[in-house]
Amino acid sequence: MDKIDLKQLNIDELTEFLISLGEPKFRAKQIFEWIHQKLVTNFSDMKNIPKSLIEKLETKAYLNNIKVYDKLVSKEDGTIKFLWELQDGNIIESVLMSYEYGNAVCISTQVGCKMACSFCASAIGGFIRNLSASEMLSEVYEMQKYSDKRISNIVLMGSGEPLDNYENVKKFLSLVNSPSGLNIGLRHITLSTCGLIDKIYELADENLQITLAISLHAPNDEMRNKIMPVSFKNPMDKLLEACRYYTKKTSRRITFEYALIDGINDTKEIALMLSEKLKNMLCHVNLIPVNDVKERNFKKSSKQNIQEFAKTLEKSGISVTVRRKLGSDINASCGQLRKHALENKERRE
Ligand code: SAH
Repeated sequence: MDKIDLKQLNIDELTEFLISLGEPKFRAKQIFEWIHQKLVTNFSDMKNIPKSLIEKLETKAYLNNIKVYDKLVSKEDGTIKFLWELQDGNIIESVLMSYEYGNAVCISTQVGCKMACSFCASAIGGFIRNLSASEMLSEVYEMQKYSDKRISNIVLMGSGEPLDNYENVKKFLSLVNSPSGLNIGLRHITLSTCGLIDKIYELADENLQITLAISLHAPNDEMRNKIMPVSFKNPMDKLLEACRYYTKKTSRRITFEYALIDGINDTKEIALMLSEKLKNMLCHVNLIPVNDVKERNFKKSSKQNIQEFAKTLEKSGISVTVRRKLGSDINASCGQLRKHALENKERRE
C-alpha cells in the first residue's frame, strides 16, 4: 500500500486518517501544528506525540519534504534564490525577497511549463509534472525557516502555470491560509496566470480573496499570439471579460503584468492601445522590464521607453508601477536558474 502524503491533508482528512489508525481525534490538531506551524520535517520531532503513534505514522505515511540543491544570495539586495531537489530528483526554484513589512516568497507550481511563452525560460525544457500541494507548501516552509522575518506574502509566479494545476493549487491555498498553520492571509497571496479563461471563471466562483495577476504583455491578439501561444485559445476580449467577472465576484482589483520587450511591445501607440483595452476596469498595470533571455534574443526596453509607456497609461487614468528588479545578479527570474542548474547537472553526468 502506498504511504499517505500527510503534509497535504487538511484537519478533517487528518482526523479521518487518525481514526482509521485507532487514534484519538485530538491528535490531528497536534500533528497538523507540528507540520504546518512548527514546520518539522520528521515525525520523530513531534514531541507530544507518543512513540507508538510515531511508529505507526512512519509505516503508513510520509512527509513530502524538499531539500536545498543550491542557493544564491544577491549582493545587491539580499534576495535569495533557492533551487530545491524534490523526492523524485526533479529540481524546482523559488525566491525569498526581503521587504520592510515582512518577507515575500515567489514559488513554482509545476516542474517546467506547457505554456511556451517566447520570452520565458521556464518552458524551454518542456513540462515535466505538476507539483503537489505538499511540495508547494514545502517551498514556503523551508524559506520561512530560513527567513529572519515572518513570510507575509506569497506570489505564485515561479515556474509553471498555477491554473493548469488547479486542484493542487487550491489545496495549497487552503492549507497555507489555515489558522492552525502559517495563517497567511489570502489577500496577501497573488496568483499569476497566462490567462486560462475557463479556470479564471472557476476561480472567481470560489470567491477567494487572492489577487489575480494576468500576464498580458500585449494590447491585442495579433501581438499576443506571437509571444504567448496560449492566446490562440484564450483571446484577449474573452480574457478581459473573465477578469471583469472575477472582479464582480470578488471585488478584487486585477493586476496586469506587462513585460516590456525592446522593439516588440513598448511603443507609445501600443501603450495607447492598451489603455483603450483596460479603461473602465478595476485594475493595476505592473510593467516589468523583460529579463533578457539570450536563447530568445529578447532585450529589455530602454529606460526612456519604459517611463514613457508608464506615463501614457497614467494619463489615461490607469494605475501603474514599474516593477523593482530584485536579484537580477542571481538569475532570479522565472526558470532561469533551474535551466542553468539542469545544464550544469547534464554536463556533470
Ligand atoms: N504561468 C504564470 C506564472 C509564472 S510566470 C504566468 O504566466 O503568469 C510569472 C511572470 O513572469 C509572468 O508574468 C511571466 O510572463 C513573467 N516572465 C516570464 N519570463 C520573463 C522574462 N524573461 N522577463 C520578465 N518577465 C517574465
